[in-house]
Amino acid sequence: MPANATCEGCGFRWSEVTADEVPSRISVATSSFVHVIETAGANANARPSPERWSILEYAGHMRDVFISIRERIMRACVEDEPVGTPMYREERVNLGLYRLDTPSIVAKELATLSGLFARTFQSLPGPFLERRLTYSTVTPAKVTILWAGAQAVHEVEHHLADAQENLRLLKA
Ligand SMILES: [Zn+2]
Repeated sequence: MPANATCEGCGFRWSEVTADEVPSRISVATSSFVHVIETAGANANARPSPERWSILEYAGHMRDVFISIRERIMRACVEDEPVGTPMYREERVNLGLYRLDTPSIVAKELATLSGLFARTFQSLPGPFLERRLTYSTVTPAKVTILWAGAQAVHEVEHHLADAQENLRLLKA
């Protein structure tokens, strides 16, 4: 991953995120995300267009992202330069693995997994932030644990914006 990479979708810059702000930014974005899920009503399940996910699918994805990145970080704490397990994010949705998710369940799970991720990240001994890993076999970038923390921030802020955009599109 280039040091100066910027997300084309939301302008996020991984290199600008410090370890200290990872837990707080995740907490703030998750609170907003949970609010969107809980207030979306019937819009939570609707796709504004075929290529967009529903708010519930974005939220289910985000819940699993916290699990997935946390597992990558855990391994990289112990193993030297492990290769992370790919998430197969599209497949999880397309295979219907989220079809029993409901807004109340996913809101709770998202808050729980977000808190767990933030707490784990905050527990890391400082020097561990520079330990390296290959992000996954599908995304074979060599990154640090700090980058993986920034990626968790990016994912939740980016998908919060997706969920908010869904509401705008569905109400238009
Ligand atoms: Zn983004």
